[in-house]
Amino acid sequence: AKEDGKGLFRFFTAEMNERTLQRLKIESELRTALRENQFELFYQPQVDVTTGHMVGVEALIRWNHPERGLVFPDAFISIAEECGLIAPIGAWVMTQAFETASRWYKREGNPLTMSINISPRQFIDESLVFTVSKLINSVGFPADRIVLEITEGHLMGSGHDTLAALRSLKLLGVRIAIDDFGTGYSSLAYLRHLPVDIIKIDRQFLNGAATNPIDANIVSAIIDLSHALNLEVLAEGIEHLSQMELLRLKGCDQAQGYLIGKPMALPDLLCWYQTFFKN
Ligand code: C2E
Ligand code: CA
Ligand code: CA
Ligand code: CA
Repeated sequence: AKEDGKGLFRFFTAEMNERTLQRLKIESELRTALRENQFELFYQPQVDVTTGHMVGVEALIRWNHPERGLVFPDAFISIAEECGLIAPIGAWVMTQAFETASRWYKREGNPLTMSINISPRQFIDESLVFTVSKLINSVGFPADRIVLEITEGHLMGSGHDTLAALRSLKLLGVRIAIDDFGTGYSSLAYLRHLPVDIIKIDRQFLNGAATNPIDANIVSAIIDLSHALNLEVLAEGIEHLSQMELLRLKGCDQAQGYLIGKPMALPDLLCWYQTFFKN
């Protein structure tokens, strides 16, 4: 038994070391990625449920890894958060997203709503408000076309710093969305006092909504709750027409998901937009 315990201990240590090494490797690769411009933003369309028109996009980061190909954020964002690289990556995302929104505005003449994911670490970093204010001043479209997304889970556990940052950002005119809504434990009383504008219903509820009446009721309740609080509501993860029907029936404002469009590189988004909304 003693032998076993030791073996097990060795096994865990070896595995831990391997994971630590793997993290260190990714960390150093992330630095290279920043330096050599290996990141790319993809854009997923968001549509108005009633008219079907595109109202905006969500920017989603991708990593064009020289050996591993296209790497998705779940594989590196948490590592970037742990090693302090989320600040420069987040700043890159922000700059890039603003530039795309600006180019869109010049090209199409109408502003596109650009939603940007913000890590909780970025919210407590004082440079965030400064970066956003600088970018807002450098572009020619209204600040309320920029939406900053913060997950419900992170908002709930957040302290004064995050709330102060949210208030300063609101003063700049940008809008705030609560991402992955329904997965945290927000109370009504709490929501009432948050400086937020949009609620994004987590896709797990939409997933079940077509088959499970409880999930459909939850979606419906979140839509009503959002409207009662005077907030816009967007449903994520729409893959089937039946989900779109449900949203229409329940009066959801906006929708996003593979049924409408997958996240796309900018040239593909322009093509997609051309195909569906021009002539
Ligand atoms: P999220 O903000 O909840 O983004 C939505 C995720 O759902 C995206 O995954 C998107 O590709 C995926 N998705 C969209 N429609 C559908 C659908 O109909 N069905 C299914 N199954 N999935 C759908 P992605 O791009 O892999 O991003 C994962 C997460 O990484 C994001 O979740 C967000 O939390 C984070 N992330 C992405 N870009 C950034 C970024 O620039 N900065 C930060 N801090 N986090 C980011
Ligand atoms: Ca998001
Ligand atoms: Ca989400
Ligand atoms: Ca998420």
